Amino acid sequence: VAATTHRAMGTSRNTRQRSVIVALLKETGEFRTAQQLHAELRGRGDQVGLATVYRTLQALTELGEIDAMRLPSGEQIFRQCSSEHHHHLVCRCCAHTVEIAGSTVEAWTERVAAEHGFTEIGHTLEIFGICAKCAEAAES
Ligand SMILES: [Zn+2]
Ligand SMILES: [Zn+2]
Ligand SMILES: [Zn+2]
Repeated sequence: VAATTHRAMGTSRNTRQRSVIVALLKETGEFRTAQQLHAELRGRGDQVGLATVYRTLQALTELGEIDAMRLPSGEQIFRQCSSEHHHHLVCRCCAHTVEIAGSTVEAWTERVAAEHGFTEIGHTLEIFGICAKCAEAAES
């Protein structure tokens, strides 16, 4: 009985942690690193550990509830996105992100894959650059 109770408590803690992180990402609307999210939660008085934040983000990514992406620097960032298939236009400076969709890319990937006899096609495409705000800040 004790073991069952323990497991149940663990589950509810995970569930709470997940909804807290999803709510935070929703509120932020931009890509954030696990460290940034951890710092934000600690700043709000949540005593959550960085390892838990990492684990929760990985679990949410696997569930498809959030998007994860790797920056050119190798750092992993997370965002609550729309559920439709899309790509990202990401600022290298501030990680400001615009969701983009285009039938050109979709048609092109299917065509080149078919030309090489590939099936079960999937793809990821992220475009990196400097956003207008950051470019302006660099000039002034
Ligand atoms: Zn996304
Ligand atoms: Zn920017
Ligand atoms: Zn696509």
